[in-house]
Amino acid sequence: MKVKAYYSAHPADPQVYHDDDECPAGRDIPWWNKRPGTDDRPRCQHCIEIEAHRPAYSG
Ligand SMILES: [Zn+2]
Repeated sequence: MKVKAYYSAHPADPQVYHDDDECPAGRDIPWWNKRPGTDDRPRCQHCIEIEAHRPAYSG
């Protein structure tokens, strides 16, 4: 599901932000590296695709 934007503070991680809790890349970020917000980064490609392929909820 959609969550508030967050990103990894680790310099070796992709310099993107995530906004979906189903994102595999986002799930790989340990809590101690997670930061809230977008940090002016582009959106993660996984998060874009997850949302694009998610069926619209009718309820
Ligand atoms: Zn992501």
